[in-house]
Formats: sequence, C-alpha cells, structure tokens
Amino acid sequence: MMRQRSVVILGSTGSIGTQALDVARAFPDLFHIQGLTGHNNVQLLAEQANEFKPPTLVVPSDEKKSELLSLLTYAPEVLVGESGLVQLMDVTMDILLVAIVGTAALPPVVAAIPKVSHIAIANKEVLVAAGSIIMDLVRKHQTRFIPVDSEHSALFQCLAAVDFNSESVKHVTLTASGGPFWQRDPNTFSSISASDALKHPNWDMGAKISIDSATMMNKGLEVIEAHHLFGVPFDDIHVVVHPKSIVHAFIETVDGAILAHMGRPDMRYPIQYAMTYPKRLSTPFQQAALTQLSGLEFFEPNRKAFPLLDLAIQCGRQGGVAPVVFNAANEVAVQLFLTGEISYLGIHATILGMLDYFSSSVASTIDDIIHLDHRVKTHRLSHQLTD
Ligand code: NAD
Ligand code: MG
Repeated sequence: MMRQRSVVILGSTGSIGTQALDVARAFPDLFHIQGLTGHNNVQLLAEQANEFKPPTLVVPSDEKKSELLSLLTYAPEVLVGESGLVQLMDVTMDILLVAIVGTAALPPVVAAIPKVSHIAIANKEVLVAAGSIIMDLVRKHQTRFIPVDSEHSALFQCLAAVDFNSESVKHVTLTASGGPFWQRDPNTFSSISASDALKHPNWDMGAKISIDSATMMNKGLEVIEAHHLFGVPFDDIHVVVHPKSIVHAFIETVDGAILAHMGRPDMRYPIQYAMTYPKRLSTPFQQAALTQLSGLEFFEPNRKAFPLLDLAIQCGRQGGVAPVVFNAANEVAVQLFLTGEISYLGIHATILGMLDYFSSSVASTIDDIIHLDHRVKTHRLSHQLTD
C-alpha cells in the first residue's frame, strides 16, 4: 500500500492538469490535492477547487481572484501572479506536477527544486530554455525529477532496464506522430489554417503543443528535453515518424537489443506513473489489447517540409542563448498563428527573424534567461509578421 501523497498541480485547468485530476480522482485514498493553479479559466479552477478543496490556489490577477472567490464554496488561501506561483512552492507537498505551458513555469520550477523532493514535469519549454541549469539544480538537491511527456516517460522506463548506464546505450529514438500534415503536399502548406493545425490525429492536447506537433517543432523541443533529462548526446537521439503513436520511444543497447515502450496514446498513463513512482499501481484507464497494436509503421521525418525539427536540434546543440530565443520566439509565433496574425509558414519565418535579431544576446543565469525570454516575447518585428 502506498502512503497518501499530497500533490500540488501547476496548471490544473489545462489538458495535462485535468488528466492529472482524473488520476487523483481514480485513487482518492492515495492523493490529496494541496494546491491548484489556473490562468484564464477561473470557472474550471473553481469547480476543481470546490471538488478537491485544496487549501491554496493561484490565479494571475486580483481581478481573477475576486471572480474566483465569488465561485468558491469554501475559503482557501488565494495567491496571485507569478509571485503567487513561487510562494506556492513553500507549501508542504509530496509531489509537484508541473503542467503549466511555456516558460511561465520557470520561476516556480526553480523555486521548487530545492524544496520539493518529487517533481513530475510535463512542461518541456523550461527544459529547452534552461535545461542545463535546471538539471544541475536537480542533481545538487537530489530531487526526484520524473518526466510526464509520453516519449520521455517511455525513455525513462526503458533506460531503467539498463540502470541508466549510458555505456549500455547505443542510441535512443523518440517517435513522432507526424501531426496532421505529415502526408500533406508541402506546396499547400501556405493555406493551412489554425483550426486545421489544431486537429491532432491521436492526442487531445492544449493549443500550443498541438500547433507544435503540426510543425514538428514539438519533436525538436523533445530532442532537447531528452538531451537534458537523460544526458544523451544530440547525435544519439533519433526521431522516427510513427503515425499510430503506440510505440512512444525506443532504446538500442550496445549488445543489439531494441527496447520499446508501447501503450495507447493516453497521457493518463505517464501522468499516473509519474505520480505513483516508484510504485506501479493497477490503472483504471482502459489498456490496449495487443491485437489492437499490430501494423506498426516507422518512417523518416520529412526534414525539408518541417524545418523546425532540425532548427530546434541545431539550437539545442549550439546551447547558450539559442534555445532560449528559439523557444520564446516559437511561443510568440504560435500565438500569432492562433490569432491569425501570421500564416503557418510564417511561424518558421518569425523564429528565424528572432534568432537573427537576438543572436548577440547573452544569458548565463536563470534571471538572465527569464529576462531574455521576456524581451523576445515583447519584441515584434513588423516585417517578420507579414508572411
Ligand atoms: P494547456 O494549454 O492545455 O494548459 C496549460 C495550463 O497552464 C493551464 O492550466 C493554464 O491555465 C496554465 N497557464 C497558461 N499560461 C500560463 C501563465 N502564463 N502562467 C501560469 N499558468 C499558465 O497545455 P497542456 O497541453 O496541458 O500542456 C502543458 C505542458 O505539458 C506543456 O509544456 C506541454 O508541452 C506539455 N505536454 C503536454 C501534453 C499533452 O498531451 N497535453 C503532452 C506532453 C507534454
Ligand atoms: Mg511528447
């Protein structure tokens, strides 16, 4: 029997956050919700809070706080803004789940590492922007840092089979669904709309990661994420397109074995695993029958049609400010695409322009990274937005 664990969820109103609450709901004796945070959707945060009654909540502004208070049926502490997220890390908790999207998660993650012994990390942008510093902190404080991203959870589970011994591993492979456009004629990419791009074939996810999947940026970010989480050199991280999203990752060992992690594309498995680790508990979520997993296919990604995959890897290899600028520029570009201000092809163009503009910046500390991230996000070069 597992002792009850108190859990704080950063970003409980999102796709990962709501599924984490499904896991908590499925194991009511095991998880006690200690804190939740939301951003725009105060209505949903209030519903979650009224159900789980966490003693502390965080919203982005005083306005949202008043709105939230009017909807609550109990009287928790309500903290506000980025400082509220950081303050929340002082709450006593067994597990922190980081399910905020983007580098907005950076301040609370950095604050949490010295204080929280078990962090389940779904957010990838913080690892892309500040992976070296974050992983140094994780090692220094011996924080248990469990990936939730499905490919990284899969890699984590495969690498456990070789005791995380890098000498046993020849290379690792992340699978990519290819997103909604991997078979579409690239000559028609200029007419892709945001609603086309939001329709992911296998996963139901937040808007930002859905667009990242449609550009294959997501897999580029995940290569950088894997590099930091597991210390695997970039040359040894491969990507294959696997449209069914059944195999989430492979490792090939030096003695010729290929270990694969398979499962239905359902984020509740990796979320549950990260929340119960190192225990494995019988899941209430429907599992796949092996006969449903047949016909697995793997393809080379089309690197020309999806240039953000290689651009991400190139920025990851370069290190320093390149991944910071690249990641922030992508967050901006995705937002502009979602609001119809730039085209699908304009995402790549916008990122290239930002990389060029900020090429001589420097950032060596977390504060520098947060500052540079903010500068990129508030910068708008009108000529890059016309594509
Ligand atoms: P989402 O957009 O559905 O939810 C994001 C959450 O973050 C929401 O609760 C929102 O209120 C909160 N948030 C947004 N902006 C914020 C800000 N500025 N400050 C504080 N909170 C803010 O996103 P998601 O799909 O759940 O993804 C969350 C993270 O997990 C992302 O980094 C994503 O790459 C990663 N991830 C998601 C999936 C998935 O299936 N959805 C899979 C793997 C990894
Ligand atoms: Mg993933």
